[in-house]
Amino acid sequence: MRHTVSQGEEKTGGASRRLPPWQDVPLDDWNDPKWQRRNIIRDLAGLGKLIFLTNDEKAALASTVSEYHLSITPYYASLMDPQDPADPIRRQAVPLAEEGLVHGHEQSDPLAEENASPVPGLTHRYPDRILLVTTNFCYMYCRHCTRKRIWKQGEGAADKAAIDRMVDYIGSHPEIRDALVSGGDPLTLPLERLEYILSRLRAIDHLEIIRIGSRVPVVMPMGITDDMLAVLEKHQPVWLNTQFNHPREVTPEAAAAVDRLLRAGIPVNNQTVLLKGVNEQPETMLTLNQALLRAKIRPYYLFQCDPVVGTEHFRTPVETGLEIMKALRGHTSGLAIPSYVIDLPGGGGKVPITPNYIVGRTVEGLVLRNFEGKTFVYPEAPPESQTFSRRLRELVPSTA
Ligand code: SF4
Repeated sequence: MRHTVSQGEEKTGGASRRLPPWQDVPLDDWNDPKWQRRNIIRDLAGLGKLIFLTNDEKAALASTVSEYHLSITPYYASLMDPQDPADPIRRQAVPLAEEGLVHGHEQSDPLAEENASPVPGLTHRYPDRILLVTTNFCYMYCRHCTRKRIWKQGEGAADKAAIDRMVDYIGSHPEIRDALVSGGDPLTLPLERLEYILSRLRAIDHLEIIRIGSRVPVVMPMGITDDMLAVLEKHQPVWLNTQFNHPREVTPEAAAAVDRLLRAGIPVNNQTVLLKGVNEQPETMLTLNQALLRAKIRPYYLFQCDPVVGTEHFRTPVETGLEIMKALRGHTSGLAIPSYVIDLPGGGGKVPITPNYIVGRTVEGLVLRNFEGKTFVYPEAPPESQTFSRRLRELVPSTA
C-alpha cells in the first residue's frame, strides 16, 4: 500500500500519540530519556504486545534480529500505525523478510568506508573532512541503515584509547578542517564520553568545524537534554545533521528538540533517505520539507538509498528521485529543496543528480525549460575570449 499524507498531517506535520500500554504513563516519565531508554523494545515478544504483526514480520523478526538487531523507543513506536504493516514509520523500524535477502549488486560496505580507514573507526575520504564512528549503538535501528555492517560487532562505544588514536590522526593532518562525529548515534553516548570526544577535537587548532550525525531528534527528542546542550554549546561551532524521512516524524516534540538545539547555537540540517514505501511520493516529500522548514530545519540532502545488503525493498529507481525534484522546484520555496545525491559505490563520493532544464542553444542564447514546462531563452554573455578581443579592438583601432 502506498502511504501518502492526510490533510491533517499536511497542516501539522503529524503529532505523536501513545500506544495503549503507555497511555497512563505520567508525562514526566514519558518525557524522561531514562524512562524511554528503560522501555526500549528489543524483541518480537515486546513488539507483539504493541502492534499487530503479520506472519511475515514475525518470521523476519525471528530470523533477522540475531544478525541485525532491533531497537525502537516507546516514543517512536507510538508514531506507528499498530494495524498497518505498510505504515511508513513502521517500515523504517520493523524488519521484513526481504531484509534477509542478498542481491548480487549489494554490499555490506557500499561506500567502501573501511578501505579509506587509516585508523579503526575513522574514514578519510575527502582531503579536508573526516568521519569518526564513535559508537555502534542507536536508540532506533533504521532498517535501511548504510552502516548495518557495524551492528554485527555488537553494541558498544569507542573507548578513550580508540578516540585518542582518531584524534591523533586528525592532529597530524593539518588539511583536515571538518570532523563528522557519527556512528551509530553519538548522541546516545554518555555525556562524559561525548564531552571527551568534543573537547579533544576542539583542542586541534586546524579543525574548524565539528558536525554530528544523529537521529535522536527524530526517534527520541526528549533525549536532547539541557545537560547535552551545555556540552554541545561549549565546543562551537558544532552543526547537527539529522534524518527526518516522513512528515509524521516532524512532531511538536521533535520541533521542540530542534528549537532547543537552535537556541544553543547548533544549526540543524536534514538528510532524508529516499525510501520505497516511506517517502517516494512527491507530495509526501513536499509536505516533509515544508514541515521541516516550519520547524526551522534546513532540508540539505535527499540521498538515493545505498545498495546495502538486505535493503533492496527500500530502493527506488533514480527516476523517482528526479520526479520528486521536478515536483519540488518551482512549487515551493527554494529553502525547502534539498540536493538530490547519489553516494557512489566504491567510495567515489557524492554526486548531485538534477533534472535537466537545459533544452539547447540558439544564436539568441541558452534555451531553458521552467517548472511549468514552458521554454525561455536566456541571452548568454559572450565567452571571455570574445569579450577580450572586442576590448582589444576598441583599445587598438584597426589602421586598415
Ligand atoms: S540512526 Fe543512523 S546510524 Fe543509527 S541505524 Fe539509523 S541510519 Fe543507521
